[in-house]
Amino acid sequence: MKTNYIFITGGVVSSLGKGITAASIASVLESRKLNVTIMKLDPYINVDPGTINPIQHGEVFVTEDGSETDLDLGHYERFIRKKMTRHNNFTTGSIYSEVLQKERKGDYLGSTIQVIPHITNAIKKRILQGSKKSRISIIEIGGTVGDIESLPFLEAIRQMSNDINKKHIFYIHLTLVPYISVSKEIKTKPTQHSVKELLSIGIQPDMLICRSEFPVPKNEKEKIALFCNIPIKAVISLQDLDSIYQIPKLLKLEGVDKYICNYFRIKAPEADLSEWDTVIYEESHTNNIITIGIIGKYIELPDAYKSVIEALKHAGLKTSTMVKIQLIDAQKIENNKGIDLLNNLDGILIPGGFGKRGIEGKMMSIKYAREKKIPYFGICLGMHLAIIEFFRNVIGIKETNSTEFDPKCQYPIIDIISNNKNNKNLKATKKNKKEIPIGGTLRLGSKTCILDKNSLVEKLYGKNIIIERYRHRYEVNHQLLDQINISELKITGRSKKNQLAEIIELNNHPWFIACQFHPEFTSTPRESHPLFIDFIKASIKFQKTNNNINIKNN
Ligand code: GLN
Repeated sequence: MKTNYIFITGGVVSSLGKGITAASIASVLESRKLNVTIMKLDPYINVDPGTINPIQHGEVFVTEDGSETDLDLGHYERFIRKKMTRHNNFTTGSIYSEVLQKERKGDYLGSTIQVIPHITNAIKKRILQGSKKSRISIIEIGGTVGDIESLPFLEAIRQMSNDINKKHIFYIHLTLVPYISVSKEIKTKPTQHSVKELLSIGIQPDMLICRSEFPVPKNEKEKIALFCNIPIKAVISLQDLDSIYQIPKLLKLEGVDKYICNYFRIKAPEADLSEWDTVIYEESHTNNIITIGIIGKYIELPDAYKSVIEALKHAGLKTSTMVKIQLIDAQKIENNKGIDLLNNLDGILIPGGFGKRGIEGKMMSIKYAREKKIPYFGICLGMHLAIIEFFRNVIGIKETNSTEFDPKCQYPIIDIISNNKNNKNLKATKKNKKEIPIGGTLRLGSKTCILDKNSLVEKLYGKNIIIERYRHRYEVNHQLLDQINISELKITGRSKKNQLAEIIELNNHPWFIACQFHPEFTSTPRESHPLFIDFIKASIKFQKTNNNINIKNN
């Protein structure tokens, strides 16, 4: 079976939603029973996004096989059923790193190493590797045409139409068609320029997807077709919609999948988007409105919490609820009266995070949720802090902390992962402290967790063996935890290997669950996650019982 390649580039401006468009095309093709995969090529020099501050590029998405990837892979998994792996995302940095290692080993036998052909060859090899066994492979190129950084990627995908018969290569270019409100005109010139830029690199797009505020009228489509040398059927209008989950349907209506299948001469059943119709129906039929506060420190960029926000919304779909999200800066809570920021919340969630900044504000929010019996959901760092807060304020061990925030802490209830402690290369001494690598040294990916019989979490999952995704460097110090017999705080999930504490529940609280793993990474609009669903149900109940009925309009 031959693989067919669809390359997606972007032009005019960034942030047009290339990732979501690519994912939506993949989902329409997958609904035609085709084996589709999807990849993201990132032009930056970091080897992976794991070391980048989420404020810059958004969250780091973790795949089942434990790779730290671009947040677009989260969109891909929310739109298609295929699971992503380390082969579905790579950066310029990882390509250079591979080529340089080979050069040091002498693998190039005396050649001068150059962008063309060595870097471009390495890029093409990764594209082929990630596309293996798929009928259609969609490859999204990060950045915008004209950026210096993405040039080697564009050159590599240009070359591929010579390496492989052009019949199996399809280029899509996503552009902006702006509406000028003063003159009430739709402008096609930026698209024409962007295509010109792409042509100068040697790529003639086969399809243009035009992002716009309103549907692009026939006249403008004809103009674009004429100037950009593209059949009118391949000029697609993708206007702003109420929800991203309506995009697959619009693309089908515009004939995108049909055009692509004809181009590749693929015979496949009609696209069946009934599951997306259900999602759209659920989105527009809600009986409740609740507000969940996410207490974090990367709140300037909501994309930093993309999967958590989406997972809350998915749970809303399954409970007929519109979930409003308030991103609250943890540091603001530390200020006098900052706790008032939590006043109107129906549920409090503390997501993953790294470093000391804002942790006291987060712990104040946990104390507030615990005492006021507001549903609390802690994820990863949110679990560490829930345990520290409990030890400090309920048990009374004030000096407890995580060694992440206080390396010399007397009573470290959260400590560096024991495996890392015993690993000589990662063991911190005074001398080597600065040399311990930060990149690639976390506990990552899918692991098995065993749930306590008769616990709430077991009831919610409906089973007692679960697989969830992890990303952390610190863990519960159960040598200390096991010394204390606390009936109020229960460990209700432990790792299959090593019996690490992975889930905690508070007993005398309506809903207080915290987990070491990241359930947000496995939630999709079609299959929401049991912990998120129950958290939303508990928050609805909290709102009702507290008569906390605020009139919350859009
Ligand atoms: N900073 C904590 C750790 O490294 C928590 C990580 C997270 O929340 N993803 O263990």
